[in-house]
Amino acid sequence: MADNWYPIIKGNCTRCKQCIEKCPIQNMTLVNNQITINNGFECPDGCEDCKDICEYSAVSYYDGTDESIMNAFGGECHCHNHK
Ligand code: SF4
Ligand code: SF4
Repeated sequence: MADNWYPIIKGNCTRCKQCIEKCPIQNMTLVNNQITINNGFECPDGCEDCKDICEYSAVSYYDGTDESIMNAFGGECHCHNHK
């Protein structure tokens, strides 16, 4: 179980469901045509199985750092709160 490790599914996900098949703890579901993490806190620390299986580079991970969020969203922040 990890407090600072969970997947972020990016916008280029094709909903191919390969990651759902691969996840060792059945933690992913397709809900309303979106890949959804059932409980991100259940992901084992450092697990990259869903990223490894994804042919579209559509999985990134939050690891507790701002950088990991920036990476997940293409390195650009669009929140307009920064100068
Ligand atoms: S393997 Fe990648 S493209 Fe396929 S459903 Fe999962 S995140 Fe989306
Ligand atoms: S990080 Fe591992 S445990 Fe978590 S959803 Fe992806 S494959 Fe499953």
